[in-house]
Amino acid sequence: MLKKKCYTCKKVFEIDHTDLQYQKIKANPNALYICKKCNQSMQVEAQLNTGLNPDMIDKHTKFLK
Ligand SMILES: [Zn+2]
Repeated sequence: MLKKKCYTCKKVFEIDHTDLQYQKIKANPNALYICKKCNQSMQVEAQLNTGLNPDMIDKHTKFLK
């Protein structure tokens, strides 16, 4: 179980292996974590704003670190 603060809403979440980002955070504890809720709204926003594929978000967050 990992604890990580959401980059967007600043709430602390417990991340377990069911979380899609668990492996990423475990491999790189300094990686940004964005909770599912924020992730979802970000993806919707990004799609509305740019029409980009939601997969781009994850690539983008790697560079933000
Ligand atoms: Zn959040």
